[in-house]
Amino acid sequence: MAKRDYYEILEISKNASDDEIKKAYRKMAIKFHPDKNPDDKKAEEKFKEAAEAYEVLSNADKRQRYNQYGHAGVNGASNGGGFSGGGMNMDDIFSQFGDIFGSGFGFGGSSRSQSGRRVTRGTNLRVKVKLTLQDITNGVEKKIKVNKHVGCKTCSGSGAKNGQFDTCRQCNGTGVVTRVQQTMLGAMQTQTTCNACGGEGRTVKDKCNTCHGDGIVREEEIIAINIPAGVAEGMQLSMSGKGNAAPRGGINGDLLILVEEEEHPQLKREGSHLIYSLTISFPDAALGMNVEVPTVEGKVKIKIDPGTQSGKVLRLKGKGLPDVNAYGRGDLLVEISIFTPTVLNNDEKKIIEQLKTAKNFEPNPNKKEKGFFDRMKEYFD
Ligand SMILES: [Zn+2]
Ligand SMILES: [Zn+2]
Repeated sequence: MAKRDYYEILEISKNASDDEIKKAYRKMAIKFHPDKNPDDKKAEEKFKEAAEAYEVLSNADKRQRYNQYGHAGVNGASNGGGFSGGGMNMDDIFSQFGDIFGSGFGFGGSSRSQSGRRVTRGTNLRVKVKLTLQDITNGVEKKIKVNKHVGCKTCSGSGAKNGQFDTCRQCNGTGVVTRVQQTMLGAMQTQTTCNACGGEGRTVKDKCNTCHGDGIVREEEIIAINIPAGVAEGMQLSMSGKGNAAPRGGINGDLLILVEEEEHPQLKREGSHLIYSLTISFPDAALGMNVEVPTVEGKVKIKIDPGTQSGKVLRLKGKGLPDVNAYGRGDLLVEISIFTPTVLNNDEKKIIEQLKTAKNFEPNPNKKEKGFFDRMKEYFD
């Protein structure tokens, strides 16, 4: 079906001022509002049509394009606007209302189900898990005891003894209360959630003895959480529907899991790489040696070449951590520093005095290791 002209939809002239456009849209929005026209598909179409017309005509840039090129100028992927071809959805329209009617103009809408009754949602539950580098390397299943709201089994979460309800007398089961308010623009209807039934449209006849009508009870539950490999301090995982149950039916909240990393006594983490600081003696650096270094999977033996300089970094490929978003693992970087003795007895002093004059002990700048920043660039870029 061809789209109607936006000016025609809002019943305004092509020269209408911004104020006239706004007023015209207000009129249409109130006339065709779904809360006023329940189950009326035609009204809903008109309501959406008016919202789309307003979306375009209230924006100077879009209006100009529309005037020039018609619908083709503002629809489709290139328009950069809030809707894509098929008009706006209801949530967009309702969220636009704050600008037009002022805040506090309480049209409902987005939080209602098809039947018009409000859908409640349980609160999210937050837990922390402390993980070792081993846990992070392999991924781990953590069993966590939580104290949370669960649906009452006696009344199946309804809150009602024997499952019996009364229709709410205040709202006649609609879950909303309509008030007529006098405003500058004349009488306007506002709808708010019924406070007698909390928007549910019904009240329990007799309260369930177990949950006192809430439909939920507190219970301890052991939840198994699968932690993927490669997570890091501060990341938040979420398990949909594992949070608190909602009062008297509705949707469960989520379980949010905050990752905390336990510090490893020897390995430092840098993204998916691990860093180990190895300090060796000067004779070992000069003569070379075999030495054990820690990894998350236990110790491994590495070879230090004769003539190793302070600041040398040995790279053990794939001995770092997995990346949570990618394949493969980071590296373990062994950073070597050479220990200079701080306390010497007389014999030791004599030996070193002799070395001072030895031909090969003159420092050679060409044999120096790369500086800190060069190495950072190399490994962490
Ligand atoms: Zn009510
Ligand atoms: Zn109950």
